[in-house]
Amino acid sequence: MIKHPLIFTDLDGTLLDHYSYSFEAAKTTLAYCSEQRIPVIANTSKTCAELIHIRKEINNSCPFIVENGAAIYLPKKLFPTAPEGCIDDGALWQFSFSKNRQHWVDLLHHLKPRFQSLYTSFSNISIEDISQLTGLNLKQAERASQRQFGEPVLWHGNREDKALFVEAIEQLGGHVLQGGRFLHVGGSANKGTAMQWLKNIYTQQSPEIAFETIALGDSDNDIDMLESADHAVVIASPIHDPLALKRTKNTIFTQSFGPIGWAESLSELLNIPEQSLLEKEK
Ligand SMILES: [Mg+2]
Repeated sequence: MIKHPLIFTDLDGTLLDHYSYSFEAAKTTLAYCSEQRIPVIANTSKTCAELIHIRKEINNSCPFIVENGAAIYLPKKLFPTAPEGCIDDGALWQFSFSKNRQHWVDLLHHLKPRFQSLYTSFSNISIEDISQLTGLNLKQAERASQRQFGEPVLWHGNREDKALFVEAIEQLGGHVLQGGRFLHVGGSANKGTAMQWLKNIYTQQSPEIAFETIALGDSDNDIDMLESADHAVVIASPIHDPLALKRTKNTIFTQSFGPIGWAESLSELLNIPEQSLLEKEK
């Protein structure tokens, strides 16, 4: 039984269903965590604008990590004093590991002659196009477009060209992460580094508590987080094989996809009494 868990979760394909973005199957487990004051920290490729909205929907007031580890937001209500290096962002503190989006858009511009026909950049497509590509409605697509720390691109080329593209970006000091739908061009921040940073902040705040991290994810951009967590949950995906991890200890591979696998694995790790879940369903 994990005494003081910090849950770090991917959203798309993990807490949210890959196709419908529904979290219905995870609702009772989320309510249990909230009641037990177990932090459920979204760690996602999504934007701050998207997270502010989604956290309301899932009734979550925990810190959150956006754009593949590029930035961490902490509610001032939970962390009254700004951790070192944070900037003031209204009701939140923001800590950033990355240069801003324009830096990465400019970097892509340098590579235009070589790769232009092989991808579509987020900056060059309309909100309607983002909506069509992602299945998000227009309001959701608008929030998705508000990226602050990197640039997603939709790859049309083959694998070989993609490898050359990744190499070219890296030569210019950038980094490419494969998300569920997009390639994310940005800095070398990742979900694992951001998770460890936030665990340290919790530990600084409550040094007497030995927190244990649980990471849940389904895609390549979750690997750093999954490899470095105390407990890893690889969520099965309807669109690709389960992730391969180097670690074997404290590692769960779910049989069920998305939020069903999410809820099942956490029930096991947190030893949630079935009765308490049943009561929440009433
Ligand atoms: Mg995912």
